[in-house]
Amino acid sequence: MKLLIDHASFHYKNQKDLFTDVSFTIQSGDMVSILGPNGSGKTTLLRAILGILPWACGRSILDDENISDLSAAKLWSKISYVPQAHGTAGSYTVLDSVLFGMTTKIGVFSVPSKEQIEYACSILEDLHLLHLRDRRCSELSGGELQMTLIARALASDPGLLVLDEPESNLDFKNQIIVLDTLSRLCQKGVGVLFNTHYPEHALRRSNLSLLLDHGRVLYGPTAEIITEENIASAFGVKAIIGEVETNTSQIKNVIPISLIAKSTGSEGSSSESSEKNEQEHTALSANSGMLASISIILSNFEESEKVNGILHDFNDILFGRMGMPYRKRNLYLININLDGPVRRIEELYHRLSLLPDVSVKVTYEKDTTEWEEQK
Ligand code: ADP
Repeated sequence: MKLLIDHASFHYKNQKDLFTDVSFTIQSGDMVSILGPNGSGKTTLLRAILGILPWACGRSILDDENISDLSAAKLWSKISYVPQAHGTAGSYTVLDSVLFGMTTKIGVFSVPSKEQIEYACSILEDLHLLHLRDRRCSELSGGELQMTLIARALASDPGLLVLDEPESNLDFKNQIIVLDTLSRLCQKGVGVLFNTHYPEHALRRSNLSLLLDHGRVLYGPTAEIITEENIASAFGVKAIIGEVETNTSQIKNVIPISLIAKSTGSEGSSSESSEKNEQEHTALSANSGMLASISIILSNFEESEKVNGILHDFNDILFGRMGMPYRKRNLYLININLDGPVRRIEELYHRLSLLPDVSVKVTYEKDTTEWEEQK
């Protein structure tokens, strides 16, 4: 399977372009996530890629054929699309719904074979849905319906699976079930394209990502697209991308910190405001002192409240914090990053080291001026 989006642009009638000159390729085994703020055009992009909405110019080419030239039967035998579940479901059962997904193989008026029913049940089992097989879709919760739509999409054995926010209605457990299912499909050679509101899902699962940033379309390896800088630009949110280490794996996480204030443009001319920004920046760096990292090990979890209370007083110089339990030894580990005057960092270190059951160590950045002189 190969899907090529070739210099494509789209706009709704009498509106300006939502995106222009989008080009990218999805191959078998790729997992591609699409991210962007609400209203940036994620759903529109999926629908235009699939030919449900017409490109203003450009093409979607699936296995060397223009999607707009394919019959519906041929298109949907190669691609499955799971739109957002909006709660409109029929009174057929969950099992019937999955069997409907196999109509290209069963035929609309044929009775499904025993093997086909077993296959549908195995899909339900993989998605932990087998207990719902005889429930009517109209009686499902939003999350259960979402999972059922995904099961139905899998039933046609697509070469490309396209999903619009598949994890949005789901609890933590079902999010992992869906993401694990998508990862397994990719390992089997299926291509997966999905919209998501979760940058960390993209970082953990997708080899490629596409970010819609106010008309700009960024596409490439996920680690190059989902960066703190690009998140700031697209979402207007300061976020930290960190890694949490567990006993078995290292997991990327995206922690939103705060909104980035918009410049109002009323602070004078652009050269004045850029001068002001520069002055503020210089003042900040002059005042910012040293970069330091403090590692804390708590042997009594109760102490974490006290640590939090102390850290609260140093919020102005604290720019990153990661905490995690280490259950094997019943310990709690905290790492914090600071940028500020050495006097304040030492004060924080001193206050933390007075707590019982707490080990603290501070590490400062290398003094680069001394280092340069030595060289
Ligand atoms: P997202 O999925 O990123 O939230 P959408 O693709 O739903 O964004 O919408 C992108 C933009 O297009 C929004 O400004 C939305 O209001 C507009 N839009 C969506 N559907 C239509 C439509 N049928 N006609 C005109 N404008 C639309």
